[in-house]
Amino acid sequence: MPTATKTEYEPVIGLEVHVQLKTASKMFCGCGLQFGAPANSLTCPVCLGLPGALPMVNRQAVEYGIRIGLALNCQIAHRIKFDRKNYFYPDLPKGYQISQYDEPLCFDGVLQMPIHDQNGNPKVCTITRAHLEEDAGKSIHMDAGGPGGGSTLVDLNRAGTPLIEIVGGPDLRSPEEAYVYLNTLKRNLSYLGVSDLSMEKGSLRCDANVSIRPRGQEKFGVRSEIKNLNSFRMVRAALEHEIRRHTEVLESGGGLRQETLLWDDEKQETRAMRSKEEATDYRFFPEPDLATFDVPREWVEEVRSSLPEMPEKRQLRFLDDYKLSQQDAVYIVGDKALADFYERSVALMDDPKKVAAWVVGEVTRELNDRNAEIADLKLTPAALVELIKLLDSGKLNNITAKEVFHVMVGNGEGALATAKKLNKLIEQNDSAVDAIVNEVIAEFADKAVADFKAGEEKALGFLIGQCMRKLKGKANPKELGAKIAARINGD
Ligand code: ADP
Ligand code: MG
Ligand code: ZN
Repeated sequence: MPTATKTEYEPVIGLEVHVQLKTASKMFCGCGLQFGAPANSLTCPVCLGLPGALPMVNRQAVEYGIRIGLALNCQIAHRIKFDRKNYFYPDLPKGYQISQYDEPLCFDGVLQMPIHDQNGNPKVCTITRAHLEEDAGKSIHMDAGGPGGGSTLVDLNRAGTPLIEIVGGPDLRSPEEAYVYLNTLKRNLSYLGVSDLSMEKGSLRCDANVSIRPRGQEKFGVRSEIKNLNSFRMVRAALEHEIRRHTEVLESGGGLRQETLLWDDEKQETRAMRSKEEATDYRFFPEPDLATFDVPREWVEEVRSSLPEMPEKRQLRFLDDYKLSQQDAVYIVGDKALADFYERSVALMDDPKKVAAWVVGEVTRELNDRNAEIADLKLTPAALVELIKLLDSGKLNNITAKEVFHVMVGNGEGALATAKKLNKLIEQNDSAVDAIVNEVIAEFADKAVADFKAGEEKALGFLIGQCMRKLKGKANPKELGAKIAARINGD
């Protein structure tokens, strides 16, 4: 029987990311923004969509939008135009969302990723566009048994929150690449200080579009759009599932249709929401309540000059100036606050690699243990540097330095003060150390000492440990070892 060669499929993925902007007020009214405020307490006639209420554009939101666009290497539009996107949903009080349709604020950008494509070139993703829009309110579905049993309540606090929708090109070729894209995008946005970027609180949201095509074919396949993705891990899992499903359908000779799906994380599968053919026609048209207005180039350049050094550049500088390993540079730069902390420490102690080892090592361990960020620790660059210097000068050893560190990050005091308080400073009192060494050698004369004399190196470690215990850790193990060996060998 002739063996049919199986078609190999290649996934094509494009992501749409919504970012809530951390402005003082909403996109088109003066209402404040606060996650978790009492329901409907942050509302006014504009964001409630009452007849006759007129929107006004929030300048800070536009500026944050420009900031994001520039950070993603986009062109910035010369004028701002808003459009109405019409649909009906209980949490959309006006019956339309003010968005940008044919003239997005930002377009034609790129995101450089820290990975390589199939041909070994640095992977670059296009940012098709990034436009401004307003968020909808929130529908809250009440549990059948509880208060408001089984009904749906609406909270309009979120309605009118400024959003930037970042539409990525169909450039990603695997769920893993999509995962890296999201992490890289989030990292870059975190440098801008324009959003909380919390998927948990909904200030960062992602819809994933995916199709497959026979490898080598240029034309894209039929895509599905997946919603209800609450973490980057879910995005990756949903894409893996959907690629498998598409492959099975095509391999069994079936056809796909373009549709919108919801991810069910419990069942680890997608389910249909609506198909695009029967989807609403949004009847976009220019927002008549808002005039278009110009975006002066001077404003754009002013925003550009206020951008921080972005991670790609900073990483290269860390490699060049501090001679860090690629891995350490990528890691430290991944968190702006941590990278700032690192650089402030290096400014106090000209040993970038040693400081990096502490940041990547103990500092990170502490952050992970506490599930905290560097700002949450009571650790200053000066205190960290003081600690490293105590270690260098032999006043602490590797073990006591870590002990002092873990106390220090919680008490906000300096390294020396903490070491004294914990009684960990190594006393340079040789006679006290000598006395302990003699004591231990006498105690283990016919055991470890004899073994060491017989050439068993391990025995020395045991003797060091015994001395260390009696000295309460306040000694340098290397010096102790030398002392013990010298005493035993009689020189
Ligand atoms: P729509 O107007 O329906 O939202 P867009 O053209 O704006 O569609 O694309 C939305 C997202 O879908 C983009 O991120 C894009 O990269 C992605 N996309 C478009 N076509 C495909 C496809 N065939 N396969 C995978 N992703 C796609
Ligand atoms: Mg779209
Ligand atoms: Zn309002």
